[in-house]
Amino acid sequence: MFSNSEEPQSQIVELPSRSKFYSSIQEVVVTPLTFAEEEKILNSKGKGLDVINLILDKCVTGINLSELLQIDKLFLLMKVREVSYGTEYKFDIACPSCGDKITTKLDIAKDLNVKYVTDDFEDPRTVKLPKLGVNAIVRFPRNREESFVSDVSSFSKNLYRFVVSINGIEDPVFVAKAIQRMHIVDVKVIANEVNKGEFGLDPRFMFHCPSCDHKSMMEVPLDAGFFSVTY
Ligand SMILES: [Zn+2]
Repeated sequence: MFSNSEEPQSQIVELPSRSKFYSSIQEVVVTPLTFAEEEKILNSKGKGLDVINLILDKCVTGINLSELLQIDKLFLLMKVREVSYGTEYKFDIACPSCGDKITTKLDIAKDLNVKYVTDDFEDPRTVKLPKLGVNAIVRFPRNREESFVSDVSSFSKNLYRFVVSINGIEDPVFVAKAIQRMHIVDVKVIANEVNKGEFGLDPRFMFHCPSCDHKSMMEVPLDAGFFSVTY
């Protein structure tokens, strides 16, 4: 009775990183959440990042999750939801203009864009610092370093961790001090390169309010409802 084709199926996925930057990786397979696991997740509400890692741990194989890149993480969560409950996602979102609660329906496979890295994209990679006039080598944060990038203040404090070298000098104490003294333009170049937000799953969609006709780009809410069939 559990082999019916209507039942959720596992899926082999291609990561936005094209699996280029992992030390050991196999075919990445996303498996549906079971009802028991969904219960567990709903009961652990409010633990934020831990719940997300718990879901990935249960449902994703072939990749070492401590190595996982942010550009692949949201994509994998979206895939877990897709194989578990289908591509349709219905949620309530408050209109930023009139405040009305609008029920919105998206097809997460069609309405959201995924941008894959290009063949020549590398990690770590070199960027030129325009003000200092030297090169820096920077890299992506890994999932195990998530606490360093979880908010703006810890990100700026820990930015040096993701800078492999500045002008060929690798000493982290030197790098941290150099960043503190750097022109804001150079710091922004480094931060943008570390985040590289243009890759991966883009959680934005075009919101259109039927009450006041307001239109703007908004982000899909990733709350408990995202992983609940009963929502
Ligand atoms: Zn509105």
